[in-house]
Amino acid sequence: MKIEGSCLCGHIKYEAEVDPKDVSVCHCTDCQTLSGSAFRVGVPIPKENFTLLAGAPKTYVKTAESGGKRAQVFCPECGSALYSTSVGDGPKIFRLRVTGSKQRHEFTPTSQGWYRSAHKWLTDIASIPAVQKQR
Ligand SMILES: [Zn+2]
Ligand SMILES: [Zn+2]
Repeated sequence: MKIEGSCLCGHIKYEAEVDPKDVSVCHCTDCQTLSGSAFRVGVPIPKENFTLLAGAPKTYVKTAESGGKRAQVFCPECGSALYSTSVGDGPKIFRLRVTGSKQRHEFTPTSQGWYRSAHKWLTDIASIPAVQKQR
């Protein structure tokens, strides 16, 4: 499925080909910290399936406790997360943040990772009082 995405300020624009069946949630603390949100939603795609249409993203390389490195790619103007990927040579898989795409509401994740650090209130989120616009 083809998706179109952009960062919050519009500096970055992209197109990508993704498989909706591969969309998953990550509850790891890196995703929580970097996104400032409860979790992130991503889909793995080969680099070739991603086309940058506008802008020049910036990359931050995070070194994990294990020594593994992960490149976090984002808009240098507004900070919107675009995707993460491996560092160095070899075939690249992008973990694209599909919630930045126009098609964001067409995805239902099929799995959740790092659930041990998931916020406990998420399991009960439907019971939290909600309004349809800003509160
Ligand atoms: Zn931006
Ligand atoms: Zn994560």
